[in-house]
Amino acid sequence: IKKLPPLQSFQLLVSRPASHLARQQYDVIVVGGGHAGTEAAAAAARVGAETLLVTQKIHTIGALSCNPSLGGVGKGQLVKEVDALDGLCGRAGDWAGIHFSILNRRKGPAVWGPRAQLDRQRYREFIQSELLGTPRLTVLEGSVEELLVTEPNPEKPGHHRVTGIRLANGNHSISASSVVLTTGTFLSGSLFMGQTTSPGGRIGDAPSSAGLSHTLRERLGLRIGRLRTGTPPRIVKDSVDLSQAKLHPPDRHPTPFSFLNKNTRCKPEDQLPCYLTFTTPGVERVVRESLHLNCHIQQDTKGPRYCPSIESRVLRFPGRRHQVWLEPEGVTSDLLYPQGLSMTMPPDVQLRLIREIPAMHRAEIRTPGYGVQYDFVCPTQLSPALQVKSTQGLFLAGQINGTTGYEEAAAQGLWAGVNAARWALSMSPVILSRTESYIGVLIDDLVTRGVTEPYRMFTSRAEFRTALRPDNADLRLTLKGRYKVGCVSSLRYQETVRVKDNLQEVLEALQTLVLSTPSWRKKMPNILMSENKSRSLRPLCDLQKKDIERIQKEENMSLPLDIDYFSLPVSLSQEVREILDRVRPSTLGAATRLEGITPAAIAHLLNYARHTG
Ligand code: FAD
Repeated sequence: IKKLPPLQSFQLLVSRPASHLARQQYDVIVVGGGHAGTEAAAAAARVGAETLLVTQKIHTIGALSCNPSLGGVGKGQLVKEVDALDGLCGRAGDWAGIHFSILNRRKGPAVWGPRAQLDRQRYREFIQSELLGTPRLTVLEGSVEELLVTEPNPEKPGHHRVTGIRLANGNHSISASSVVLTTGTFLSGSLFMGQTTSPGGRIGDAPSSAGLSHTLRERLGLRIGRLRTGTPPRIVKDSVDLSQAKLHPPDRHPTPFSFLNKNTRCKPEDQLPCYLTFTTPGVERVVRESLHLNCHIQQDTKGPRYCPSIESRVLRFPGRRHQVWLEPEGVTSDLLYPQGLSMTMPPDVQLRLIREIPAMHRAEIRTPGYGVQYDFVCPTQLSPALQVKSTQGLFLAGQINGTTGYEEAAAQGLWAGVNAARWALSMSPVILSRTESYIGVLIDDLVTRGVTEPYRMFTSRAEFRTALRPDNADLRLTLKGRYKVGCVSSLRYQETVRVKDNLQEVLEALQTLVLSTPSWRKKMPNILMSENKSRSLRPLCDLQKKDIERIQKEENMSLPLDIDYFSLPVSLSQEVREILDRVRPSTLGAATRLEGITPAAIAHLLNYARHTG
């Protein structure tokens, strides 16, 4: 774990007015300094593009809007993959973590979920300092008012090209070959608390300006949807009776997220505990009595199914007690984050509700919970490189694509940043397949299936999860990241080569070692399975290998993005033609995963792809 450079110099670097920027033309402009934007900006610069990150407030770069935690089941895999591609969030997690645990440890390593509770301040510090140290990256404080795009190409109606951005203050324009939009929950954002609604992207932060929504909706003709999410009140730690909650210690030996780190900044003995408690019938009563005062919950905009508000949980599962985790917000913070108690009722009702829980019967609230509703761009309008299909050079990543969570945002941000840089530098786009990574699964799900509710990652979304383990993300991605993508440093590359060579040596040594099964078990009890088990698994592994090869073959069969599906001379129903026309899958593999596409339709497409490609 290295030392951070002083952040004061960062403030100096970025607080220049836009008109004093050294250049007014960049290869890539990234809009938004959240989890998607910071990864996108750093990745674009690593690939070699002169990059500008424009964000509303410098001091919120890398802010954790909701839960101060990183990773978990499915999400931890994304963090490891972002790290394998030299992204920031894994190392930031190792720097800021104060409670590390591997979730699901009793199950197989493929579904282990590396997770850490974080210190908010330290996380932001690390991300800001990394950006400061990134060559070719400039950061500007400002709000982007409008995207600059060319008029549509008359030969390809509806096709635009992005040329830059216009800032809100001073009407200042900056040109770029590509732009990555990562505006999170800020696009036409509204905040909800009780019966009050106000414009905002997050508490204390203004929404993204109406001009940006206007460009996307009216000028570019993109389909936009609306989603919602919420956050719990923050509780004063000293006002909570922790003796009435169950202590949940961290792992004794913290496991770092990053393949570059041997240990975490927080020493094992300095980690902070979390606590578990439960709701009571009183909580349900308060929710029901106050429904008429809670306009967020009365709306039918879709919220996150897997991170629901306490109102939704109680209404969906009446009579049950629900878990509430009390989690530290940082080393020096005097606050606790009550995970499971996201709520949007008026502040006095929030206080009444939390005091129905014995451990919080005298608790004080520092900041009340609230909800946010925001616009997202239906992600089926994107290519697998996360570029808007109808607008050359425009890339989208993060919550704006209908996902929820820091890890999902970081993963998309990195990939959009890489492709935005490659577009600007006239290099071909790069795509990650769902057979090689969770990032590939995430992007493929978004661009082929779209979202109807906030999307989050689970291991069950990956068909080949036994091959996509958190511990082998470096072996799967780092070499590709170095040579095919161009976003991996030589330091990380050398480390992965060292690990790969060591593994090879051990494998070769094991292959020459002849022992009886009992001796194997005795020597390596945790690694080896029983002979019977390994025999029964072998055919399954072979089948999975064949499936991976089949999908890889289909992924290699590309379908041109400008096919006219309505006049395609093959036998397809009108419904199938409409779906294909709307989504425009880029490969045969992506077409097979679309809802409503029949095996017969795939066979026709396969014939077509063979003849044309
Ligand atoms: P953000 O982290 O939101 O970053 C967006 C950035 O863009 C901000 O820095 C903003 O200032 C900047 N920006 C926006 N517009 C402009 C503009 N026009 N010009 C310049 N800069 C601009 N996730 C979960 O997994 N579970 C939850 O329960 C959950 N609850 C949440 C509750 C709330 C109230 C909020 C606000 C978020 C919640 N999240 C939750 C979501 C989590 O915060 C996001 O998934 C994650 O932060 C998304 O990252 P992002 O980079 O897409 O956007």
